[in-house]
Amino acid sequence: MRRLSRIAAEIGMSAAIMVIQLGCDHRETREFKVMSPGPSSVLTQAQDVVIRVFLWECSDLSLAGRNGSLQVVTDDLSVPKTELIMFRSGRLSRRNDKWFLTDAKFVAEKELATEEALIIRPVDGAVIEAGSPQAASYRGILRCIPAGEQGFAVVNELDIESYLAGVVGAEMPAYWDGRALRAQAIACRTYALHQMHRRRSENANWDVTSDQGSQVYGGMGSEDRRIARVVQATKGIVLTYGPAGKEKLFPAYFSSSCGGHTQNAASVFGQRLTPLSGVACPYCKAVAKPEHYCWAPVEVSKDEVSRRLMERYPELASLEVIKDVQVARRSDYGRVEALRLIGRNGHSRLICGEDFRLGVTRPEQALRSSWYDMKDNGDSWRFENGRGWGHGVGLCQCGCEQMARQGRNTVEILAYYYPEATLVRAY
Ligand SMILES: [Zn+2]
Repeated sequence: MRRLSRIAAEIGMSAAIMVIQLGCDHRETREFKVMSPGPSSVLTQAQDVVIRVFLWECSDLSLAGRNGSLQVVTDDLSVPKTELIMFRSGRLSRRNDKWFLTDAKFVAEKELATEEALIIRPVDGAVIEAGSPQAASYRGILRCIPAGEQGFAVVNELDIESYLAGVVGAEMPAYWDGRALRAQAIACRTYALHQMHRRRSENANWDVTSDQGSQVYGGMGSEDRRIARVVQATKGIVLTYGPAGKEKLFPAYFSSSCGGHTQNAASVFGQRLTPLSGVACPYCKAVAKPEHYCWAPVEVSKDEVSRRLMERYPELASLEVIKDVQVARRSDYGRVEALRLIGRNGHSRLICGEDFRLGVTRPEQALRSSWYDMKDNGDSWRFENGRGWGHGVGLCQCGCEQMARQGRNTVEILAYYYPEATLVRAY
């Protein structure tokens, strides 16, 4: 692994007490805590790290090769090579545990001689286009993994830097300050690599999903030239935490706007880590839309609150009907961390603030964060004085942009939102 000062120079940041000037990012910077990255099981020397992104599950998939053909191959060594099929466009489907491919050119349907996963790969520089009614383009390959008798999961496998080029632009506006975008790219890479290590230790079929459950990914359609340069400039750099030589990746969460203080991950995801313990954020107010920073009051009937929570969390059935809700714990700055739900039968259950808001939220009645006051309005609950948008853990994206506009560099921004984290090159 290369020294951090060298890494910092490459991406226009300053490391330790060195001041390195590059491009438009030359600034005096304060010291950033640097640990020499020692051998660590979570880091890899591989040049191209392949990430597996779950796209969707279906029983029928429309496929086409742009600028060339696609090939269906299999990991199943018992299938003779003559079974491998080239096609330009067609449909892959699965019925009664069997695969079928319809080549649009020949129309005839062919049954494929394997029940195992199939790999769709491009030939001679072609690009895979998949999905309907609107197809998206994907780098790398698609792995189609049987799920039940009729369906299959579609997983895009591609090198992580290409994946990030499709992710960072979906998570942060491409016109934002380069220093903010670089911080976002490093946070996204760290999160993705952390997920990869965790999911592979569980023998899972994929590492991340393509929606907000992980990081939003839309294939090549969400790539942007400026974002691609940002990703390239931070290639392989991740955030870690821990004593020198024993640094570990951590899930570098981020969210849109914290509302004035980022949330401790322990209250939401159960992780007790200094980099995710929460910091005051005087920055996001200047960038977030006013209606996102301070959201309008939301009123939901008590019956509806009970019904929505019961629907999302079946384990609450032991309460029969939720008759009362009390804030059980607030952070010292005011965010609701836990609520007590009291049932008609007198039983009660605790629920974390984030789960509560996700359970109650509907598109037309969104609790944008878990930071609000709760008022008893007789038959309904009124959530007012709401602040921030998102779970609020880790990097505050709007705050990150404001810090950059004020001239703080990428290292400083990451050091602020992830206290005591260390930047190292993973590959
Ligand atoms: Zn903030």
